[in-house]
Amino acid sequence: MEKTCIDVLPLTMNSSEKQEVVCIFGTGDFGRSLGLKMLQCGYSIVFGSRNPQKNNLLPNGAEVLSYSEAAKKSDIIIIAIHREHYDFLTELTEVLNGKILVDISNNLKINQYPESNAEYLAQLVPGAHVVKAFNTISAWALQSGALDASRQAILKKENPFSTSSAWLSDSYVALGILGFFLFVLLGITSLPSVSNAVNWREFRFVQSKLGYLTLILCTAHTLVYGGKKFLSPSNLRWYLPAAYVLGLIIPCTMLVIKFVLIMPCVDNTLTRIRQGWERNSKH
Ligand code: NAP
Repeated sequence: MEKTCIDVLPLTMNSSEKQEVVCIFGTGDFGRSLGLKMLQCGYSIVFGSRNPQKNNLLPNGAEVLSYSEAAKKSDIIIIAIHREHYDFLTELTEVLNGKILVDISNNLKINQYPESNAEYLAQLVPGAHVVKAFNTISAWALQSGALDASRQAILKKENPFSTSSAWLSDSYVALGILGFFLFVLLGITSLPSVSNAVNWREFRFVQSKLGYLTLILCTAHTLVYGGKKFLSPSNLRWYLPAAYVLGLIIPCTMLVIKFVLIMPCVDNTLTRIRQGWERNSKH
């Protein structure tokens, strides 16, 4: 089978400087994800695997050897294997003697075993130094980079809390909730069983006044969604505006027309026309 490898892009300026060799036992989800990140940080990675020939999806530049061969290459060995499969490590006690074993495992249930996984590992390989690490990071978080909650905070001199961004995000949520609430109310009052129970004034108020209010809230909700990036040229992919900008065209046109129509000079004239006024009437 042809091997599929993942390209490694350096994460930092210094990652081109080769650092020490780290061994990772297991080529599963976590082993691969951690190996990729460590390679990007400049570490040399050697994977230990049951099937060194058959492994694919491993990051480019990583070496894959049998468990015993890989263990010889590094003093730090990250055990990316489920606890249930630790037994085979007893066969490697000699080669693991004096090495640092990093236990990253988690169990499916609390108190699943009488001792912790790290204690169990230390019992299996008494000559090694066992440490616990990485078990609170998911393979997904490692793969998706700095996009989730476990990302590292970037040290900045200015205050990272942006008042305007906070206002925008809060307004976005508040306008959305209010708009959606009124939208549901409009839908309910449109049901024949409900509309038959209200008089025409109530019905007109709900359908007209609340209708426009809903339109305003929902349009404002989408405008706030755009926020600062609303008309920024860098957001114009393929030279086309974003979908939410296109979605604003009809509601904004409606609101502008309504605004013109309720201007006193237009509204008064329209009301008079509705009441039968004619410009050149002789009567
Ligand atoms: P996985 O995808 O199932 O990979 C486990 C690897 O263990 C296999 O790919 C295999 O590698 C190796 N292995 C060795 N002996 C085995 C055996 N007898 N049967 C099956 N596999 C054997 O698991 P994972 O998600 O990478 O998790 C590995 C460890 O990381 C676990 O202890 C887990 O608790 C911990 N962890 C995982 C995550 C996560 O998000 N996935 C997060 C935190 C901690 P070879 O085929 O190359 O030998």
